[in-house]
Parts: sequence; structure tokens; C-alpha cells
Amino acid sequence: MEKYYNEIRESVCSICADSNEDGDCELTNKETCAIKIYLPQIIDVVQKVDSEYFEDYYKKLKDTVCKECNGRDENGHCSLRDDANCSLDRYFNIIVESVKKVDNAK
Ligand code: SF4
Ligand code: SF4
Repeated sequence: MEKYYNEIRESVCSICADSNEDGDCELTNKETCAIKIYLPQIIDVVQKVDSEYFEDYYKKLKDTVCKECNGRDENGHCSLRDDANCSLDRYFNIIVESVKKVDNAK
């Protein structure tokens, strides 16, 4: 799991709108990063989908992770996503590539 965290930190946190110039996360204790919370599920989805189309990963990630996430309201609507405030949604294609990169290096 550490390899995935390291790769995510290098490829996603470094460009994330919520990080500082050193790539350190600047979210407060009251805020959460969906990538951090759901990384095991994210890895599982990427490994199982195995498609050349990002949409297939995106759909499965939403079906799997967003269903568990309390960012959604009772109607399944996520205002964090609408406001581009979810790191998983914002950077999902880089996340998919990061997981694949770690797996391909095994
Ligand atoms: S919000 Fe998530 S992706 Fe962004 S810097 Fe923090 S830990 Fe990294
Ligand atoms: S898009 Fe919303 S429901 Fe899905 S992981 Fe992000 S915050 Fe959670």
C-alpha cells in the first residue's frame, strides 16, 4: 500500500489544488481527502476494470467509492463533486495511471 501512497503523493498531491508548493496537503482536520480514505477501494477498482477507456474506471469508481462516501446526500447528489472539491473526482485519470504504474512495476 505504501508504494501506491508514494506514487499518489508524487503524481497527484504535487499538482493538487489543496497542496502547498512542496506537495504537502493543506486540508484542515475538518476536511478529508477521498483518495486517502478510499485508496484500497480505488486500487481494487482499477485492477478489476482493466479497460482502455477512462470512462469505464470513472463509472466504476463512482459506483463503488461514491456509494460509500458521505459526501453524497440522500439523493446521491454530491456538491463536492459539483464544486470540483473532491480530489478523487478532480484527478481520477491521474490516479488510475498511478495505480497502473505501480502495478506494472511489480
Ligand atoms: S487533498 Fe488529497 S490529493 Fe490533494 S494534496 Fe491532500 S492528500 Fe493529496
Ligand atoms: S465525488 Fe463526492 S461522493 Fe464521490 S468520492 Fe468525491 S466527495 Fe465522495
